[in-house]
Amino acid sequence: MKYLEEYRKPEIVRHLVQEIRAITTRPWMIMEVCGGQTHSILKNGIDQILPKEIELVHGPGCPVCVTPLEQIDKALAIARRPEVIFTSFGDMLRVPGSREDLFMVKSAGGDVRVVYSPLDAVQLARENPHRHVVFFAVGFETTAPNNAMAVWQAHREGLRNFSILVSHVLVPPAMKALLSSPRNRVQGYLAAGHVCTVMGWEEYEPIAAQYHVPIVVTGFEPVDILEGVLMTVRQLERGEARVENQYSRVVRREGNRPAQELIRKVFEIAPRKWRGIGEIPASGLRLRPEFRAYDAEVIFDLGELQVEEPAICISGLVLQGLKKPDECPAFGRQCTPQTPLGATMVSSEGACAAYFAYHRQRAEEVREGAEAGKAADA
Ligand code: SF4
Repeated sequence: MKYLEEYRKPEIVRHLVQEIRAITTRPWMIMEVCGGQTHSILKNGIDQILPKEIELVHGPGCPVCVTPLEQIDKALAIARRPEVIFTSFGDMLRVPGSREDLFMVKSAGGDVRVVYSPLDAVQLARENPHRHVVFFAVGFETTAPNNAMAVWQAHREGLRNFSILVSHVLVPPAMKALLSSPRNRVQGYLAAGHVCTVMGWEEYEPIAAQYHVPIVVTGFEPVDILEGVLMTVRQLERGEARVENQYSRVVRREGNRPAQELIRKVFEIAPRKWRGIGEIPASGLRLRPEFRAYDAEVIFDLGELQVEEPAICISGLVLQGLKKPDECPAFGRQCTPQTPLGATMVSSEGACAAYFAYHRQRAEEVREGAEAGKAADA
């Protein structure tokens, strides 16, 4: 398949690993921002084949994981209302709120539906004029254009029974917040290719200059990630700090201008709370005043909800690259994909879920191999 198989070829992977080994002279810590990249790294064992000097840490780029617990509780409160059809992408349905998740609300009679686009939710609003349709608008810059389009379309048609529950976050302010932290260990970034498809990479240039970190816009296949690591290490070894684009088959410097324009028409920048990290100034989107009639938080006026995170969960430290999932005492014990305590375990892009699926599997293979060896020796 074009643009896929050639980015998974073992001989290219081997060559890139050799190049990384050849230029690495000291330890470097590199953060992949996106949860999709984290999954690709663990699934393909990329972290295992890099030289030991290169440590990859996993960033906050999983939108489900950074959606605050109180926002999930608000979604649950809205979804319980009899007049509401609550719509969402499937990955939000299993994310636990303080006491339940959207699946439980559905099984108790709530009208919760999975949609594949916010425009499907607009269509439901057209078909159900006596119900109120809410779409859970979660995500980074990648999903913002679609959500903006849904609100724009509803506004154009004068639909009054459609709204969105907004939980949009922006990547560059989070990257800056991590670099500003006194605990920061990150020396270079693999930026999320799909976010840059929409936004380009101009806004990363001042970050690279201010914090003196290389930032390489990177794709998601094994060859993409290894090439991104190679470009980052090359800059680090030379003492450089620039933005480079590994994902040039998709991303342009200026990004997708019409999509950016649509986002700006419908949303404005606002402070946002990130689960496990806290509030980051100017790190999110909210609807502009002229579109507030489509804001579910305004319509349902839920106020501030008090929530409590499970004390044992260290997902905040995982999302900041300060701890690895298998350093959590609950990992694989109280917390599994079937019994998730934190969103980094429930989301398919979460680092804890990736460690459970791939690292755990590898650890078990090694253990089984050792046990089989012992049995053969006996
Ligand atoms: S393993 Fe579970 S409890 Fe531990 S950090 Fe991850 S989500 Fe939280």
